[in-house]
Amino acid sequence: MISPSSLIMAVDSTLSSAVGASVSEKDAKALQFIEEMTKNVDSVQERILGEILSRNADTEYLKRFQLNGATDRDTFKSKVPVVTYEDLQPEIQRIANGDKSPILSSHPISEFLTSSGTSAGERKLVPTIHEELNRRQLLYTLLMPVVNLYVPGLDKGKGLYFLFIKAETKTPGGLLARPVLTSYYKSDHFKSRPYDPFNVYTSPNETILCPDSIQSMYAQMLCGLIMREEVLRVGAVFASGLLKAIRFLQVNWKQFAHDIETGTLNPKVTDPSVRECMSKILKPNPELAAFITKECSEENWECIITRIWPNTKYLDVIVTGAMAQYIPTLEYYSGGLPMACTMYASSECYFGLNLKPMCKPSEVSYTIMPNMAYFEFLPHDDSSAQDSSRDSPPRLVDLADLEVGKEYELIVTTYAGLCRYRVGDILRVTGFHNAAPQFRFIRRKNVLLSIDFDKTDESELQQAIENASVLLKEFNTSVVEYTSYADTKQIPGHYVIYWELFVKDAANAPTDEVLSQCCFQMEESLNVVYRQCRVADSIGPLEIRVVKNGTFEELMDYAISRGASINQYKVPRCVSFTPIMELLDSRVVSKHFSPALPHWTPERRR
Ligand code: AMP
Repeated sequence: MISPSSLIMAVDSTLSSAVGASVSEKDAKALQFIEEMTKNVDSVQERILGEILSRNADTEYLKRFQLNGATDRDTFKSKVPVVTYEDLQPEIQRIANGDKSPILSSHPISEFLTSSGTSAGERKLVPTIHEELNRRQLLYTLLMPVVNLYVPGLDKGKGLYFLFIKAETKTPGGLLARPVLTSYYKSDHFKSRPYDPFNVYTSPNETILCPDSIQSMYAQMLCGLIMREEVLRVGAVFASGLLKAIRFLQVNWKQFAHDIETGTLNPKVTDPSVRECMSKILKPNPELAAFITKECSEENWECIITRIWPNTKYLDVIVTGAMAQYIPTLEYYSGGLPMACTMYASSECYFGLNLKPMCKPSEVSYTIMPNMAYFEFLPHDDSSAQDSSRDSPPRLVDLADLEVGKEYELIVTTYAGLCRYRVGDILRVTGFHNAAPQFRFIRRKNVLLSIDFDKTDESELQQAIENASVLLKEFNTSVVEYTSYADTKQIPGHYVIYWELFVKDAANAPTDEVLSQCCFQMEESLNVVYRQCRVADSIGPLEIRVVKNGTFEELMDYAISRGASINQYKVPRCVSFTPIMELLDSRVVSKHFSPALPHWTPERRR
């Protein structure tokens, strides 16, 4: 062990004295790496772009723009267009169909990472190459050294993390298509990770890698209960995942208590490797079973996390962006434990980490690591810069040249061959760590509703409403106005759609059954990620609340009374502001819920 307090100071001078702890050699190296990267942002970025352009110089995509071997930023910026996923779809489809020529990347595409939402409602297929796993792993290895600066003693216990793999498919050309975390958990990088006392999980690999998510959750929770006193941190990737685990405990605690009392595993867990590994962990423990029964049978579940796992120092979950809606519920269950948002990543690229992981959720800023890819930024509030036509490329700003307080859309150029690709995230620069800007995640462009991994945009909602309102035709009824709300007060959360109807013939008004069918029709029309989350029970049945006639006019009056312009007033298609919610809810005349699960299979429709 060494004590490089200068490193701690470098990461956060204000905490260096408070921590004052020795830093392990491994952590010191990671912190040193962060320091080097953040001090040399611009030169690292220049090098990364040079590497990407030279290794991909002979790809069909880059050759199209006649860089003629140039690897400098100016040539790149003047010749290569800014694109969206949709622009690259023809190339991606060819790769998916089995074309192995170097289309986007000189390195073979090893698999596709499926990411939420294309405009066609399908998951995106994000091409990746094998070595990207190293970059993802590198970012993971930076997280604990930073957390260790703020939370001492995490090597004295374990992390209870709810981690899952999801269904994978093959493209027509035989490449795997699966979510980025599934790819990572199934890789040797994760499965054969070296022992690290700061990163010991209660969940054995077999439970994480179990393809049946219910059996996986069951086994992971059971391990967490058995090892309750060793647990020092509790987490999941996103807040919604942790809340799903709490709900699972609420529904299944009697069975857990039974298993623990008798030392026998619920026969519904049938996966042989899970059964095998659980047989080594599960032993009869009537005392623990009685404890779980006592805590869980109480009506009040406030602080349930700290009651069951009393040594928990913090929750490790992302509560920024769409997940901020879960902060109050998590605070309730955890008695206000700190929530660490450690990293910011996507299927296209892992971006960076939070250097102050114990800060309040509202203050979280992520520092993009300049070695992960080449990053550019489209000023978000500068309309002249938004023109992305190919003839006049928009003026994008480099990572080292951003201004504090300004908002930008993130554009990335990756080793796997995405060039000047719009990620769709809007970020605000809040400050700098050395020369590296730090970003608050503001929002995802165009996303209206999100409960779990789903992201529903305005046009998808509009389309779903149009499809559903077809059912109203025979009742001479139409939807006059609508808005929506992501209701996350209960677990799982669900979409609420407020409808104002025009019923021509009151004697022939649509019945509850018809309106429930409208809910179902909307669900059927929503994108594949929504439907998958529904089937996996991480989103509850969609609800339509019919409001009295004139409600939306009142909504407009309210907005105008608060300063909106009459000319420019637009009905908000998603609401969350309490007074507006109260107004809408006070005008509800009937509520209807989707009666069934929408269609979902792991196969792609195309
Ligand atoms: P996907 O590619 O489907 O994994 O989704 C990636 C997207 O999730 C990012 O582009 C962000 O919009 C969102 N996301 C990832 N990490 C965070 C974070 N730490 N805070 C807020 N949003 C995030």
